Amino acid sequence: MTRDHLFNVSQSKVNAWRRCRLQFHFQHVDHLKPFLKARPLKFGGIVHTLMEELSKGKDPFKKLQAIGEHERKLFREEIEYYGDIITDIEYIMRAYIKFWAKEPLKWINVNGKKAELPFEVELTSEIRFKGTLDGVVKHRSFTALLEHKTHKNIPNDDHRWRNLQSAVYIRMLQMAGWVKDIDGTLWNYVRSKSPTRPKLLKAGGMSQASIDTLPDVIGTFLTEHKLSAVPYKEFISTQIVNLQTWFQRVYTPIKPEVVMTLFLEFVRTAREMAGYYEKNKSPPPRSIGQHCMWCSFEPLCRAELMGDDVDFVREHQFVVDDSEYQREGEYDEET
Ligand code: SF4
Repeated sequence: MTRDHLFNVSQSKVNAWRRCRLQFHFQHVDHLKPFLKARPLKFGGIVHTLMEELSKGKDPFKKLQAIGEHERKLFREEIEYYGDIITDIEYIMRAYIKFWAKEPLKWINVNGKKAELPFEVELTSEIRFKGTLDGVVKHRSFTALLEHKTHKNIPNDDHRWRNLQSAVYIRMLQMAGWVKDIDGTLWNYVRSKSPTRPKLLKAGGMSQASIDTLPDVIGTFLTEHKLSAVPYKEFISTQIVNLQTWFQRVYTPIKPEVVMTLFLEFVRTAREMAGYYEKNKSPPPRSIGQHCMWCSFEPLCRAELMGDDVDFVREHQFVVDDSEYQREGEYDEET
């Protein structure tokens, strides 16, 4: 096998393979992509871009405006599917910046870059590991791998320990020798939920029924309806306290034996994937389960299984995108 014929794996490819081999095949061998990216993927992709702007000391909202303008047609047509995602992200990122104003991320420069660090390492003589790290930061006295995570609700430790990504990336950092000592992972959580807009009462004034939103959303509503903030002080204070449910940073120290175990298992899966495609051209078997609820390829998989018009589904719901690196695959699809 020459260098150009190395089997490329990424974190998302290994995750997809483990979840369902057929899903992996649709996405990474057939290079199919649904016309409409799931909202969490769209949201995660844009937030990562804005975090990168912040790492460069640039105004992320200029970038957000450019993204909005560039995709205005798409967003207008699909606003019912995504909701007003650009406005949601603006509210959320403005609140994020205010929330962490006293503790901005302390980025470490790696190879001339601070965020979205691309890497490529040869895992074996046949397998290449490719991906992008969110960044490396100083957190208190620790040096940490940074992981931006966008979720509808911020996960707890029960979820975090299952995240293989961090361990594998830490091992990659050690192998590449980019950072001398890495102490752990800093999880930078941002909620992806659309902040609820307040309601106008028939009698006038703003409803103070409990809603899950951000203080600036209320501020905008009061301004738009020419209402004074004074009667709503307590309501606004509740939203300010609620900010800690929107933004959290959690540091988890490294356990070398855990990193090594997960990394070796990652390599083992990568070998299994390479081995399968060395011998087979045909799609691997599907794994039906609860995860099918979140699978972008469910309509296609179901049509194939049920003997429906597969070509029609393929043509009307999917596009072929063989760009080598489908970055969106790296973001959480969880809701
Ligand atoms: S719907 Fe389920 S079985 Fe089918 S490809 Fe998706 S994850 Fe696999």
